[in-house]
Amino acid sequence: MKHSLIVGCGLAGFHYANTLQKEKKDFYIIADQAEGASRNAGGVLNPTVLKRYTMAWKGTLFFDAALAVYKQFEKQKHTSVFKELPIHHYFNQASDHNNWSVAAQKEGLNRFLLPPIEHKESNTVKAKFGYATLQKVGKVEIKKTLDLFKQDLSKDQFIEEVFDYNALEIHKDAISYKGLKAKNIVFCEGYGLKKNPWFSYLPLTGSKGEFLHIRAKGLTTKAIIKGGLFIVPITKDLFWVGASFTREDKTPKPTTAGKDWLISKLNKRLKIPFEIVYHGAAIRPTVQDRRPLLGVHPQYKNLFVFNGLGTRGVMMGPLLSQWLYAFIESKKELPTEVAIDRFETYFSNPKK
Ligand SMILES: Cc1cc2nc3c(=O)[nH]c(=O)nc-3n(C[C@H](O)[C@H](O)[C@H](O)COP(=O)(O)OP(=O)(O)OC[C@H]3O[C@@H](n4cnc5c(N)ncnc54)[C@H](O)[C@@H]3O)c2cc1C
Repeated sequence: MKHSLIVGCGLAGFHYANTLQKEKKDFYIIADQAEGASRNAGGVLNPTVLKRYTMAWKGTLFFDAALAVYKQFEKQKHTSVFKELPIHHYFNQASDHNNWSVAAQKEGLNRFLLPPIEHKESNTVKAKFGYATLQKVGKVEIKKTLDLFKQDLSKDQFIEEVFDYNALEIHKDAISYKGLKAKNIVFCEGYGLKKNPWFSYLPLTGSKGEFLHIRAKGLTTKAIIKGGLFIVPITKDLFWVGASFTREDKTPKPTTAGKDWLISKLNKRLKIPFEIVYHGAAIRPTVQDRRPLLGVHPQYKNLFVFNGLGTRGVMMGPLLSQWLYAFIESKKELPTEVAIDRFETYFSNPKK
């Protein structure tokens, strides 16, 4: 009998499995072929909220834990998946300069926000109000990370199929699924959680993000541009651009309106022509109260959930998976902000 059966292999499933591997616990993964949010994301690893010049919730804690995990993964796989790249934050108005300067002096933020406001003219990017630099941040190559991880698992361990909820048998101290036996099951399904018969009571709202891949000759690959949207280097002349944010449409299909919005933002920022080479969309697993969803099912003690990574799966996935592991293995309490107990009343009264 294995330790766990994991359903889904985006950032949540990967990080949980990676934690198990480190703890020398074995597992199965059942994952479908859909790309989910992770394989479509920009990969930006940034602990700050640039809109408000503040630190994200427990930003430094999550950031440091994430960096350690990606570095360890790189060592293990003898390759690089994290690239440190500054973020150039372009201002929309001169009054933002003061807000930046104040934030850049604050404890915690001063590790990332560099004080100078740059006014250098560039041939490629419009910078009417200048920009400032966020240092020590960067980009994780998510697809590469997930592919590398999967590559070393056997076909018996990584099973590519849509999980059939009807085939799950829940016993007192174990679960079984089509002949596979494990002590517990951890659902890491992203927005797919909506179809999960045990955890769909949780208020996962979901928010759609549309993005582009563009070819823009001469645009810098030495920084991530943040100005209306993120422009993240992929390779020379090729960039990921995004993303839109809407809660109304929950289909992972790109739309004309989404594309037009992205193009208009790009036209406002870039001085150079660009060619669209790909347009995609995915649903972020966002939660009503904007905090992750970790914990055990109220009735079945070997059914667990790892979800709600929202807009920051790259940064939060590593530490959250360690918290969940400690909760499952050592009964260590989860921080109240992430524990699904906070939605216990939704379970008894699913209409909420
Ligand atoms: C456009 C966009 C840009 C983003 N940019 C960033 C960014 O720059 N930085 C950042 O930190 N975050 C970013 N995010 C957010 C980030 O992508 C998410 O936080 C993260 O990917 C969520 O990971 P997950 O594993 O929970 O979900 P997912 O990545 O969606 O993975 C869940 C997987 O489980 C599979 N699955 C579901 N149900 C089943 C089932 N029944 N059987 C089998 N398989 C199943 C799904 O197909 C999917 O592959 C972005 C998101 C979007 C949409």
